[in-house]
Amino acid sequence: MKKMKSIKEKVYSNARIDAEDALYLFESNDIIAIGELAARRMQTSAPAPEEVYYSYNININPTNICGHRCKLCAFSKDAGDDGAYEESAVDIIQRVKAAVKSSADGHIEAHIVGGLSPKYDLSFYEGLLRSIKKISRKITIQAFTAVEIDYLSSLAGIGVTKILEKLKAAGLDALPGGGAEIFNDKIRSVICEKKIRTDAWLDVMKKAHQIGIPTNATMLYGHIETDGDRVKHLELLRNLQDDTGGFKSFVPLAFYGENVEVKRNRYNSGFDDLKVIAIARIFLDNFSNIKALHNMLGLKFAQTALYFGANDLGGTSFDERIARAAGAYSPGLIRESDLVKIIDGAGKKAVKTDSTYLLKIRRS
Ligand code: SF4
Repeated sequence: MKKMKSIKEKVYSNARIDAEDALYLFESNDIIAIGELAARRMQTSAPAPEEVYYSYNININPTNICGHRCKLCAFSKDAGDDGAYEESAVDIIQRVKAAVKSSADGHIEAHIVGGLSPKYDLSFYEGLLRSIKKISRKITIQAFTAVEIDYLSSLAGIGVTKILEKLKAAGLDALPGGGAEIFNDKIRSVICEKKIRTDAWLDVMKKAHQIGIPTNATMLYGHIETDGDRVKHLELLRNLQDDTGGFKSFVPLAFYGENVEVKRNRYNSGFDDLKVIAIARIFLDNFSNIKALHNMLGLKFAQTALYFGANDLGGTSFDERIARAAGAYSPGLIRESDLVKIIDGAGKKAVKTDSTYLLKIRRS
């Protein structure tokens, strides 16, 4: 009780909470008190507390063939496996054109992430980004996790900053925050053995921020991490954000354990989902936007999260395959109007945006 009171005093006086405070909140089941603190923090850290963002996006996963074969991944395959696929640039362009046509105002975001395969190298992606940008100037491209950037860098024998500069010149607008998983290298060596380690992930993000590419940050929770690991993860993100200011949003990713090799030792309850979102909002006082992904949490639960610190529901996510492969709630096509209704229903104002948050079209 005494601890909760002191955390409350910090939040209400707009002061930072420390790692010990965050750990206390993770260990508490006082979800109403935690939600109240998150709502209070939103007043000072969200750009406009009454506004909720969403984007109209198409997911492009060019191939599921991946040399890493992480234990946490239900999406990847080896070449020749049943279900392994490789999509051509021509087919991808057709899908992007169809997505543009289906958007009432033409604004869409192409979200490109995929397996690590030598066929999909720097020159393939430079060509793809250029072709996408030629379709319409209203397309924003958010592409390549830090893991993919590092892979493209090794494949081309070119440093990370140079790779980022080349992709930016070809049309890259922002990086997603994937591949962060959990910043504990012992756990990474179990759940994603071949992925870059914590320092390398943070370094790619720092380099992106330094050349003006905004990024997201994620955290995968609900597998074998402890509450302390979650706090450490948030702390490293907050430190880097103090340094660069380049993170546009934090995206908590609930772990879905279907079709994966990881033997999890904890499960996500609704309380967990709300606590991660709310504590992220309270602790990450230097992040403007916290996402509650409707395709992971379900529309109604994501709506509830809008009162626990979230101010972004994510995108319409056409053709999302990665989370769906692991069993995430994924109802297929969500219309833009469904997201607007959900936001209106929570008494908030819907604003269409993209991952740069520069686009702002008010819908209610
Ligand atoms: S998580 Fe990414 S890097 Fe790991 S196997 Fe899946 S696609 Fe490959």
